[in-house]
Amino acid sequence: AKRVVIKVGTSTLVYPDGSINLRAIDQLAFVISAMRHRGREVVLVSSGAIGVGLNYMGLKQRPKAIPEQQAIAAIGQTELVSIYKERFAIYEQKIGQVLLTRDIFVYPKSHKNVLNTFEALMQQNVIPIVNENDTVAVDELDHETKFGDNDQLSAIVATNIGADLLIMLSDIDGFYNGNPNADAKAQLLSHVEQVDQQTYELAGGSGSRFGTGGMVTKLKAAERMIKADGQMILANGEDPAIIFQIIAGEPVGTLFG
Ligand code: ADP
Repeated sequence: AKRVVIKVGTSTLVYPDGSINLRAIDQLAFVISAMRHRGREVVLVSSGAIGVGLNYMGLKQRPKAIPEQQAIAAIGQTELVSIYKERFAIYEQKIGQVLLTRDIFVYPKSHKNVLNTFEALMQQNVIPIVNENDTVAVDELDHETKFGDNDQLSAIVATNIGADLLIMLSDIDGFYNGNPNADAKAQLLSHVEQVDQQTYELAGGSGSRFGTGGMVTKLKAAERMIKADGQMILANGEDPAIIFQIIAGEPVGTLFG
């Protein structure tokens, strides 16, 4: 896989107490710059805007109203990207922020504009850092629908830019045959070749305080990758250096496809 998309969840970036996990962000910058040196093109899809925004504003909880959440996301996104910029600079890497909505690939003109931007960024050795544009689309914020999320966005980006590997980092070691938070006997599945109705039945809801996606959206992302003849690896992002093991082909987490 020359082109790789890495998606990090809020649980990787923000501690349960709401403070920012700078060590994890630093590890991410380190591992991604090492991948760049080895000739790989990497796109980072990062959640965490709300979590970082809450911390920045000194709030303990997400506001209920969607517009207030959008404001927190706008504030947090600014802070998060500035942290990324600083940490990537330590490893002599430049970043560019790309804010997308999932429907852009539906419209031919915006589809082309987005692809052009990705290509131009990567041609200049700049690492695209992608998030959903929460000002424009509120799906991710809306707990009722839980439709939108960076899990699916990361797969949409991967398949459109021709990345055949999506590395999805979460707060869990991989995909289990039951929700490990609810079922102590649930076992990690190291390889899932197909995502179908049976697979979805093994997934429960979101486990983390700030996380929104849960396992269902990760399975949807995996399904999309497999349909495009790609693969997805779900692994624990607690230590992002796990990416070194993944690209070395060591069996960690769950391989989909
Ligand atoms: P992130 O913030 O990284 O996107 P989420 O909290 O949204 O993570 O989703 C991961 C959570 O999904 C896990 O912590 C776990 O509680 C839950 N989950 C539900 N079903 C499963 C399953 N079958 N295997 C693994 N995790 C599961």
